Amino acid sequence: MLSTMQDGQLSLANLLRHGTSVHSASEVITWTGSEARRETYGDLGRHAARLANALRSLGVTGDQRVGTFMWNNAEHMAAYLAVPAMGAVLHTLNIRLFPEQLVFVANHAEDHVVIVDGTLVPLLAKQLPQFKTVRHVIVANGDAASLEAPDGVEVHSYAELLAAQPDTFDWPDVDERSAAAMCYTSGTTGDPKGVAYSHRSIWLHSMQVCMTDSMKLAQHDKALAIVPMFHAMAWGLPYASLMVGASLLMPDRFLQPAPISAMLAAEKPTFAGAVPTVWQGLLAHLEAHPQDISHLREVVVGGSAVPPSLMHAFQERHDVPILHAWGMTETSPLGSVARPPASATGDDIWKYRYTQGRFPASVRARLIDDDGAVLPWDNEAVGELEVQGPWIAASYYGGAEVDPDKFHDGWLRTGDVGKISPDGFLTLTDRAKDVIKSGGEWISSVDLENQVMGHPAVAEAAVVGIPDEKWDERPLVAVVLKEGQSVTPEELRDYLSDKVAKWQLPENWTFVDEVPKTSVGKFDKKRIRASYSEGKLD
Ligand code: ADP
Repeated sequence: MLSTMQDGQLSLANLLRHGTSVHSASEVITWTGSEARRETYGDLGRHAARLANALRSLGVTGDQRVGTFMWNNAEHMAAYLAVPAMGAVLHTLNIRLFPEQLVFVANHAEDHVVIVDGTLVPLLAKQLPQFKTVRHVIVANGDAASLEAPDGVEVHSYAELLAAQPDTFDWPDVDERSAAAMCYTSGTTGDPKGVAYSHRSIWLHSMQVCMTDSMKLAQHDKALAIVPMFHAMAWGLPYASLMVGASLLMPDRFLQPAPISAMLAAEKPTFAGAVPTVWQGLLAHLEAHPQDISHLREVVVGGSAVPPSLMHAFQERHDVPILHAWGMTETSPLGSVARPPASATGDDIWKYRYTQGRFPASVRARLIDDDGAVLPWDNEAVGELEVQGPWIAASYYGGAEVDPDKFHDGWLRTGDVGKISPDGFLTLTDRAKDVIKSGGEWISSVDLENQVMGHPAVAEAAVVGIPDEKWDERPLVAVVLKEGQSVTPEELRDYLSDKVAKWQLPENWTFVDEVPKTSVGKFDKKRIRASYSEGKLD
């Protein structure tokens, strides 16, 4: 029997109409270095309409791709709305990709237009001549004349182009299953791979982000989106904020600890999202420059495992709870969130908070062993995590041949390894490719990192496996010390001796000024391994 219910389209045009009218007084606030520029959601709606008209005037039709090469700011937010709502597809280009990868993704997605921030023009200009399908570049927040157009490309000023446009647009009806936006993985292995989110997947994901046991976003919030809008759609914060009328604070290019603390002081956001390395940097800065940040009711941290020491530091020194979450570009990205069960008390609460958390109702998960058998949720059996659900990718853009091993029987193979407790809490021990195999046993690089980062002299620690004649692989720990601190490998081994099994105690240590980071701010283990094999680490 068919239901008697309507089929309301979960389209971003509907989200735009809702957010910019019902929540017209909420704001997108862009940091400019010393103060903020503000735009109400009402004005953002008119801004998006002018942008959509401008794109039409440049010939953007159908599902053509519009690339953005931008910081998190109001113009990027206008593109987030205008491009999908007009039926085209937003492609957020990662400004930190290696040049050849940037060229690859722009050509693979067949971007027709690129909107670039003025400050990023020099970076884009170098690769632009190799972008085969781009016909127009629009320079926002900068001087269009600073970009020399390659043959066949027209350069426009964002301000001038939009000034001439009407501030209404007849948003078309778009099938909720069609692509709204695309994002490429940062390509730590092979070419970056594209995920095309649908209007429907973004809508459902936004609802989940706002749910109480997820990020709990609501109209009284002001959310600081430090996570870049080119990294897994800024974890869904832009669309979710619009859905419920939370204001958005956008850091633009001011991503260092000092300007972040300045924007915290000036704007007092209630919520924020960023990868652990950002919070490590902010924590060190706040130690030297104390500031009350308790206006943050919570911050969501994910993208890599959150060290427990970081959670404790924020909670105990700053009264700010860190909410640990897991996800991937392929999962929109929200996959799991670590909210302890209502029954947990005392230290149990912390144990739950350290985990990657529970899956929401729409995400199904299972663990698979090396032979493909499904493992129990007993918090002991360790295997590869697979997930499925309405905001989980079913393939990469370009079809099954792009990465045939990544998807099977309707499941996404995450490449993450871990265990799940009977009450559904996921604990990841590693990425499959980072697990250290020592004497036939597995060592979790994440576990070791978390333990080493618990030492008071250590600011950051990354662990990789290095070849070993006897054991196959052994851990190498790259340590960054806190300013003015010193500690020896022997002292660190002593410190670990009652925290990890004896055979796991690392004998290889190197002290570095900085752990190399990927384009989205995670420890770049591939580079650490390469530096080691080139003899650049002792
Ligand atoms: P990339 O693959 O380019 O790093 P993603 O952001 O899509 O970009 O990375 C997703 C991966 O990040 C996950 O598969 C997982 O390995 C890691 N990750 C994300 N969140 C967590 C977390 N909370 N704990 C451990 N690992 C995480």
